[in-house]
Amino acid sequence: MKKVCSLAFLTILLSSCQNNTKSSKDQAAAYQNAEFEQYSNRFVLALWKQFPSFGSAMGYHNCDAVLIPPTAEARQAENAFAHAHLDSLKQFKPEGLTPAAQMDLRMIQAHLKAILWSNDTEKAWQWNPALYNVCERFAEIANGNYGKLEERLKSITSRLAQVPDYYDAAKHNISNPTIEHTQLAIDQNLGGLSIFEKDIPAKVATANIDTATKAEILARCHIAAEAIRNYAEWLKTLPHKTPRSFRLGKELYKQKFHHEIQCGYTLDEMYTKALARKKELHGLMFNTAQQLWSKYLGQAKMPTDTLTMIRRVIEQISLKHTHPDSFQISIERQIPQLVAFIKQKDLITLDPRKPLVVRREPDYMAGVAGASISAPGPYDKEGNTYYNVGSLSGWPREKAESYLREYNQYTLQILNIHEAIPGHYTQLVYANQSPSIIKSIFGNGTMIEGWAVYTERMMLENGYGASEGRQEAEPEMWLMYYKWNLRSTCNFILDYSVHTLGMSREDGMKLLTQEAFQQQAEAEGKWKRVSVTQVQLCSYFTGYSEIYALREECKKAQGNAFRLKKFHEAFLSYGSAPVKYIRELMLANK
Ligand code: ZN
Ligand code: ZN
Repeated sequence: MKKVCSLAFLTILLSSCQNNTKSSKDQAAAYQNAEFEQYSNRFVLALWKQFPSFGSAMGYHNCDAVLIPPTAEARQAENAFAHAHLDSLKQFKPEGLTPAAQMDLRMIQAHLKAILWSNDTEKAWQWNPALYNVCERFAEIANGNYGKLEERLKSITSRLAQVPDYYDAAKHNISNPTIEHTQLAIDQNLGGLSIFEKDIPAKVATANIDTATKAEILARCHIAAEAIRNYAEWLKTLPHKTPRSFRLGKELYKQKFHHEIQCGYTLDEMYTKALARKKELHGLMFNTAQQLWSKYLGQAKMPTDTLTMIRRVIEQISLKHTHPDSFQISIERQIPQLVAFIKQKDLITLDPRKPLVVRREPDYMAGVAGASISAPGPYDKEGNTYYNVGSLSGWPREKAESYLREYNQYTLQILNIHEAIPGHYTQLVYANQSPSIIKSIFGNGTMIEGWAVYTERMMLENGYGASEGRQEAEPEMWLMYYKWNLRSTCNFILDYSVHTLGMSREDGMKLLTQEAFQQQAEAEGKWKRVSVTQVQLCSYFTGYSEIYALREECKKAQGNAFRLKKFHEAFLSYGSAPVKYIRELMLANK
């Protein structure tokens, strides 16, 4: 209190002399900032001690050996940690910090509040058995390309010792889980068994360690696999007499939206925007499909129903697709083309030293999304970035055909823009260069997904997908883009409606297949996803809307001086922070 008053006095006293005022203010700010930076560094180390698996996932490998069983005591300790740090943070006044540090401060506070909310109010630890899964972390440590294999195996050995206690604690926590999350937990845990039965044993075989140690690791792998199998078997025996609904309900949903999405609009405002965008897209699609009708359907009579007419054109265009066996290779071939286009149009600087590795999606990831990016954390800057692609091998012919029509020649390119370049992959490379570790570790999913969705439109606006010698993207490309954007839009509408308005499976499928023109397989996958996640499906449309609006705002403010490349690089330079904070800084610095 005293310090603030004396500083205010000093400012008034010197206000006639601009330079002195400024330097006094700067000194005070520098002092606060230095204090805050020291605090941040201590906080991050304490965070890893409290949440070692999170640390390990972020590439802080000192944590690799520790797996904390999710007991009630562990949750109490997490809450105590959150309360203590929320209290310590009160010493920092946002106005005394640089804008970037203010952003960090708000992100730490938001994260700590989300921990408390999740433990005390959401309580997914009770009803979501899929929260408990040790497989991924073991796989990442075993396959990591950091340190020596022998060192990593040491971490794995002590981590393995905790696995039975981990699943014991999980069983104690679970009470009246939803049927959907129970099934997901069974599938994903069993899917991860191969890590203990194949992957780690294979690493052990090549390691330079003595036979007794090898035998010890294999024995522990066996015990861990048994604990996982036992957990899955136990889940199968649950009676589910009056199971909890997988629908979160309006109140919890609103709170979760607040904690996780962190957007500048309210939930209901965003819902209204999503409904309006759906209508707008239907109009754009009508015009484009009408223009393409005769090219694809010749003299056939145009249906009077708008959605039917659009659907028929989409169906024709969707027939241009790759084969199940060349799905991965088609993706690999497109990456250099995207890079070349971005260079030619000067849209954003790409770092050629960061390799992107396309790989078949590991089994433990299967079941939620078809393609995803796994990027190295802030401590692991040299680690590989993987583009995980779901395999179609072994799919029934009809199912594969339906999937490939969804990811046809046009849509597959949009998927690659989104997941890889300049979408997620590019954004994550920039995020790891961000000087703030806080922004790297508390990455805001809305900003991350929003960026990927934004780049889809941005690439087409700049002529990606134009035929030889043309500047404008082909109408086919636009039509498939509208359909794809309709997907983000309907993700929001579906998630909101299912969790807060009780939308039925039948109505959900109708929205996706009829109004969003999705193939049956895609729509079924989405239904599975909306029944095991909440709010996350809103992030795409929300982040996209905020970023697009911000770009238009900057364009307007800067007029002729506006440069798209500069906007992109400035936007990404803040790291994966909520768009509303980036917006404040960018508009202040314009
Ligand atoms: Zn086909
Ligand atoms: Zn994405």
